[in-house]
This record gives sequence, C-alpha cells and structure tokens, in this order.
Amino acid sequence: MKIVVLDGYTLNPGDLTWEGMEKLGELTVYDRTPEDKVIERIGDAEILFVNKVKITREILEQTKVKYIGVLATGYNVIDVDAAKEKGILVSNIPTYGTASVAQMVFALLLEICHHVGAHDAAVKRGEWANKTDFCFWKHPLIELAGKTMGIIGYGRIGQNAGQLAQAFGMKVLAYNRNPDKALEGDTMKFVDLEELICESDVISLHCPLLDSTKGIINKNSIAKMKHGVIIINTSRGPLIVEEDLAAALNSGKVYAAGVDVVSVEPIEENNPLLKAKNIFITPHIAWAPIESRERLMNIAVENLRSYLNGKPDNIVNG
Ligand code: NAD
Repeated sequence: MKIVVLDGYTLNPGDLTWEGMEKLGELTVYDRTPEDKVIERIGDAEILFVNKVKITREILEQTKVKYIGVLATGYNVIDVDAAKEKGILVSNIPTYGTASVAQMVFALLLEICHHVGAHDAAVKRGEWANKTDFCFWKHPLIELAGKTMGIIGYGRIGQNAGQLAQAFGMKVLAYNRNPDKALEGDTMKFVDLEELICESDVISLHCPLLDSTKGIINKNSIAKMKHGVIIINTSRGPLIVEEDLAAALNSGKVYAAGVDVVSVEPIEENNPLLKAKNIFITPHIAWAPIESRERLMNIAVENLRSYLNGKPDNIVNG
C-alpha cells in the first residue's frame, strides 16, 4: 500500500523520523509540493498526508486516495464534503501542542516585559562595558504580578495560558462562548467580552477564527482598552485588524504586541505590523518545539494504524 506525504518539511525538517509510517506501507515523502504537481505525485497512492497543500474535489476525482491524514489540527485545506461523497475518510490531529503554544504566549510577553534580545545585543555591542553604573536598561521593565490578563477563548490553550498567568501572580479574566464556571477561583473568573476588553492589562487571543471572531481586535475594541495595554496573538492572524493595531501601537494606545500569526502567511512585505512600534513578530512557531511535533507525528501514525485496523480515529468527515 502506497503512502504519500506531500508537504512533510515543516513537521519534520530532519530532526524526527518517518519510521512509524514506513512500517505501515510504501512511503514517499516530499518536503513541499507545488499545486501543479499534486496529482502526479499522489499517483496511485491510497493513503495521503498533507499539512497545508490544498486537496480539491478535482484532485480527489483524478486519484485513488481512500484516506487523508491532515498533519495539523485545522483541515480547511481539504474539500471534506467532496471527500465524504467519495467515501474518503479525513483525519486530523485534534491536539498536540497545548503546552508549547501557552509557553509561547509567555515567550512573547516576557520579551515585552524585559527586552532580553535587545539588552543582550546592547551588551554584546559593548554598551555595558562603557557604563559608569553597574546596570542600565534601554526600555521600561514590567512586572507581571498583580496585573490582569484577559484571555479570549478559554479552551485548551487559553486555560493553560491562564494557569501560567496565575503562576506569575496575575489575575485572569476569561471570555468563552460556553464558560465552565467550575474553572473559576480566587484569581480567575469569566466575564463578558466588554469587561475583559476594558479591564485587562494584557489581552491574549485563544479563540478559533470564525466569522464571529474575525477582526475581534479592531479600532473600536482597542478604543475601549486601557491605555498602554499589551496584546498577544498566538491563535490566528485575522482575529486582528492589522492596520488598526499598527496605528494603536504607533500612537502608544497599545504599549506593545507580540504576534506569532499574521493575516497572510508567510508575512507580506507591506504588512503594516512590520513597521509598527514595539511589536514582536515570530513566524508561526508556537506549535513547533520538537516535543509537540513528535507528538503530532505519533498521533498521525496512530490515526493511520487505527484506520488500517478498521477502527478509524479522529475522523472529521465521518
Ligand atoms: P480549543 O477548541 O480547545 O479552544 C478554543 C476555545 O474558544 C473553546 O473553548 C471555544 O468554546 C472558544 N470559542 C469559540 N468561539 C468563541 C467565541 N466566538 N468567543 C470566545 N470563545 C470562543 O482550541 P485550542 O486547542 O485552545 O486552540 C486555540 C487556537 O489556537 C486555535 O483555534 C488555533 O487557531 C490556535 N493555534 C495556534 C498555534 C500556533 O502555532 N500559533 C498552534 C495550535 C493552535
């Protein structure tokens, strides 16, 4: 049985092994596949794995694929209705990197609080060696304890980020579509979106990208925020209207932002955030520590094994 992986590079740039899949069939892995090579490369394979390559109805009609494993949580790259009509099962990886993404929230936030990168660079440029005082700092330094973190979307990652915030001595205000009141405590409570927006010192986004959440951070919501608020986005770029955030950063209304995701990825050269003040942008790496990717790989293998054993798991179009 032939197994084809069309875009394996981001999951395994060389530090993991495809051995688990190799044991289940005749495996061919491509690092990347351009649109015009998809059908040719799938060939007569019955098992297909993709991460971000689009699999359309047309492709499904011209190949013999029976099972598609998506190497990610989001499976919007697959025409799942067309797959269902053709009896093709599609599986995803529902969760693999919760702790990594929550940790990244604090990597961004702590950089904003201490500017570790800029201070390290200054020291290595010789600025410390030339000082009279025993210390110096080039940016305001911020203590998180006692501040309020507003978390929009209190699911797996949101809750994990909330626990870390409380460990830093922060109070947590959370907004979720269906609040689970059992999670509330002395330093965590659910509030409506308006209260969260108005009362938080730091706002972190963890809701999915839906019609109802697209652009949730925009000039109107920013206008209601505290002066000097910090915004963190590790969820999806389009949750933020980037022109509005850039303007608010440049005016100082938003003190700083840390984003791991932007509206169009890879980032476009004219993205207004690139030239905004006090923003830290990382290239969608929150999911990517090796521990998370290894977990993702293992779940993808187990998904395929359970399909081959006649007990398909994590099916999104069953
Ligand atoms: P999850 O499904 O466990 O949590 C999402 C929460 O948002 C749920 O509790 C849901 O009820 C809530 N929600 C849904 N609609 C809402 C709305 N309109 N307003 C407020 N809350 C709403 O998902 P998760 O595993 O915590 O992942 C959260 C997001 O993180 C994902 O949607 C994904 O976009 C993003 N993510 C990013 C990376 C990365 O590498 N940067 C990696 C993994 C996930």
